[in-house]
Amino acid sequence: MDYDVEAIRSHFPILERILPNGKQLVYFDNAATTQKPLVVIDAMSDFYKNYHANAHRANHTLADESTAALEGARDKISLFFGASESSMIYTGGATEAMNLIAYGWARYNLEEGDVVVTTEMEHHANIVPWQELSKDIGIELRFVPFDNEARKLDYGALEVAAKGASLVCAGHVSNVLGVRNDVERIIKIAHSNGARVALDSAQGAPHEKINFDGLGADFCAIAGHKMAGPTGIGCLLVKADALAEMGPFLTGGSIITSVTTEGTQFLDGYSMFETGTPRMAEAIGWRAAVEWLEENINFHDAHEHIHNIASWMSNEMEKIPGITIFGAPGRDDGVGVVSFLHESILAQDMGYLLDAGGFAIRTGTHCAQPLLEAMGVASTNRASIWIYNTMEEAEAFIVHLRDIVNRFA
Ligand code: PMP
Repeated sequence: MDYDVEAIRSHFPILERILPNGKQLVYFDNAATTQKPLVVIDAMSDFYKNYHANAHRANHTLADESTAALEGARDKISLFFGASESSMIYTGGATEAMNLIAYGWARYNLEEGDVVVTTEMEHHANIVPWQELSKDIGIELRFVPFDNEARKLDYGALEVAAKGASLVCAGHVSNVLGVRNDVERIIKIAHSNGARVALDSAQGAPHEKINFDGLGADFCAIAGHKMAGPTGIGCLLVKADALAEMGPFLTGGSIITSVTTEGTQFLDGYSMFETGTPRMAEAIGWRAAVEWLEENINFHDAHEHIHNIASWMSNEMEKIPGITIFGAPGRDDGVGVVSFLHESILAQDMGYLLDAGGFAIRTGTHCAQPLLEAMGVASTNRASIWIYNTMEEAEAFIVHLRDIVNRFA
């Protein structure tokens, strides 16, 4: 069956938006956060209107309903990610999930001199926690270089860096370039060196159906808001044996069996990591998003649709004088991102000029400064495509971009 993008768009009210300047919104900032289908907004609204109460605490009806919804959402979402033999810990997003690996696993299992490997391609969420942990406990942090010529991770250097490492942490898909790393190969390299492996799948999960148990990674960080879910929710998927090695990170109520003035006993399993009032509305919204994706999106067809748009856009942009494309949107490992720069129009100015035409893109360093340094640029413009974008939007974008270059270059 053909990919029915209009049917998909009809679920997203915001895509009808007319901006204050009278322009129809074209939303190409999906790698920052995706829009939400109405079912997600309705599910959260229904919770607040009809059964909102604090989960895992009281014995009244609303509290029972809220607890059932929170835990039902966990079951549904972890099954969606193929994590039936693994655990899913709710977090505020991918950043918190990466910090949970650093402070809930690495801090308990690594000591001075132990090696953590990350890469130059990472979002700061997969760099800064390791630098901070290095200050705390003296781990050695190794960076695998980005091969700027080949526009991909330097796998030869990874083979070397992984020797003697305790943990290898890598992004699934680059948020700057849309290049999908060969995560299967990264997992193999890490495990053959006896290291655990953590994936930052913030940008992978919106584009492919993750099968966590099948992949074999030890940890996987995911952001709900980048895959049609609400903000304020994400998760860390953890293999059972890695979970058994973890200790508490953020502490307080809800995660304990007893607290005395002498000390605290913690709950086991994922319950040890979800302190404070749970993210109930957000989990309910994320569940609705996951169910919506299951009902409406075939990931294979969606990937093809997104890939066609992004590679067509990058081809057209390469014909515009002064524009450089980063990453490899047309390559098989290109996942819906066109990162570009014009030689004489500053990225920030380009953002405003595109906005004047209704086009929402991201400009700047994308929380990935080491990657930009490796690429030799201070910033880029990033158009990121998702399931509801159309070829007509891409065509209008190219017309507007040509016009900007003609007028302002
Ligand atoms: N990792 C990557 C690759 C990302 O793109 C992002 C979001 N820009 C994050 C981590 C952080 O995710 P969150 O906003 O959910 O904390």
